[in-house]
Amino acid sequence: MTAHITIAPIPESQAGPRRYRLLIDGAWTEARAGGTIERVAPAHGVAVSIYERAGREDALAAVAAARAAFDNGTWPRMTGAERSSLLLKVAARIEARAEEFARLDAIEAGKPIAQVRGEMAGAVDIWRFAAALARTLHGQSFSTIGETKLGVVLREPIGVVSIITPWNFPFLILSQKLPFALAAGCTAVVKPSEMTSASALLLGEILIEVGLPKGVVNIVTGTGPEAGAPTVESADVDMLSFTGSTKVGKALMASAAGTLKKVSMELGGKNAQIVFPDADLEAATDAIVFGAFFNAGECCNAGSRLVVHASIAEELVERVRARSARVRVGDPLDDATVVGALISQDHTDKIGAYVEGARGAGARFPAGGAMLSADSGRFMAPTIVTGVSPDMAIAREEVFGPVLTVLTFETPQEAIAIGNGTEYGLSAGVWSANFDTCHLVSRALRAGTVWINTFMDGASELPFGGFKQSGLGRELGIHAALDYTEEKTLHLHSGGRPKPWVVDAI
Ligand code: NAD
Repeated sequence: MTAHITIAPIPESQAGPRRYRLLIDGAWTEARAGGTIERVAPAHGVAVSIYERAGREDALAAVAAARAAFDNGTWPRMTGAERSSLLLKVAARIEARAEEFARLDAIEAGKPIAQVRGEMAGAVDIWRFAAALARTLHGQSFSTIGETKLGVVLREPIGVVSIITPWNFPFLILSQKLPFALAAGCTAVVKPSEMTSASALLLGEILIEVGLPKGVVNIVTGTGPEAGAPTVESADVDMLSFTGSTKVGKALMASAAGTLKKVSMELGGKNAQIVFPDADLEAATDAIVFGAFFNAGECCNAGSRLVVHASIAEELVERVRARSARVRVGDPLDDATVVGALISQDHTDKIGAYVEGARGAGARFPAGGAMLSADSGRFMAPTIVTGVSPDMAIAREEVFGPVLTVLTFETPQEAIAIGNGTEYGLSAGVWSANFDTCHLVSRALRAGTVWINTFMDGASELPFGGFKQSGLGRELGIHAALDYTEEKTLHLHSGGRPKPWVVDAI
């Protein structure tokens, strides 16, 4: 592991931070109240972006533009083929500029560039998948309800969608929402994280280039309470699609209740990797290290709890320790980096408080447990915590850093109880060579995704989302675009006057 992390200057920031505007009704505009937000790259410590600080008026102007673009009918009434063709053009342009997108996210979030390239490939695939769904959205018909009757269930776009996204996978998470909303015929107001808005605004450029009608997608930058909250409160917004913390998700759900809008929530996780003694320990070790330290653990899906059978705990922890010592922590723009910088000082302090709390309660640290020295930014060594009980904060709460907490079990029932023993239910992993063990344990886990002898696999075709307080609804999957629709039932009658159902005489 690197003793001291050196950080090379960012070539594109030599000329100073790049200035961005809001995208409202097809035009790049400034915030009405005039404020801006400066983004300092977390690894490099230099200002890279200056955003408009949108306030309530700007957010509501964006909502009004999205509402008008929906109500004028151009976008919702286009054929699926037309919408699909436009989404495919967007996908092609994202692909052509993937490196530019990747660098923006890597710089603003402090993420390893090699990893973000993979996220971009995933995002392009999702845009293409959503384009396919635009042509397959359909309702149902019922000819069995009576000889003179036909029931037709239409799938209509739900309307205006507020899309609010976090900083940890800026473009990938936006891509899990926006193309499906567009495929369904919705219009949108996007509020990216105030820390990582650049890639969303680059997408805005592409949407204009491909000729998306004005107002169909509006992008407001700024803080959550100032630029995001007004869209959630607005009666002109029909649905909220949110990814972020469980705390903010709950507050936004309460706010959305004021206008009874539909909500889709992708929230936190505290995911267990359960390892049985008959597992392929070499494969499990790789996946445990990857699952816990990928994206510096700043990942809703992080396999942040290793739940291991007591008989192999010592051996597995040693394997994980040895493997994580080879993980390269460093400059996010270096192709060889695996773990980049932590997002902010506040977040670093929060992680530090969990670590120190555990240390104070007698936990041991076979690896890490400390910050690394660096030219700039905040970097944490991959950290393994043992000697903890399932009820300790570090074992139950989302730390959101490169911290793997180890818990042991004796029986499968105990493993399941530990796996299910948090307020979250996003994902889990089961490692065993025995089919019954994999099958029965994965069935008993209350999690939206369970990986069996693998970890963190994903595909555009497969739904993703959480049980319990990890969220509501599912993203991706073959039904993803349906989430952005309403059902409308048509009753059709033929064959003369319908038979009155109250009294024949009236
Ligand atoms: P966050 O909840 O602090 O912020 C998310 C977004 O909400 C940001 O755009 C923020 O500006 C906005 N926001 C904050 N307060 C708001 C308010 N009062 N009104 C309107 N908008 C508001 O989350 P974060 O720190 O950006 O992201 C990390 C969290 O996201 C973690 O908890 C992580 O688990 C979760 N996450 C979940 C998934 C998933 O798919 N389940 C994926 C990625 C991240």
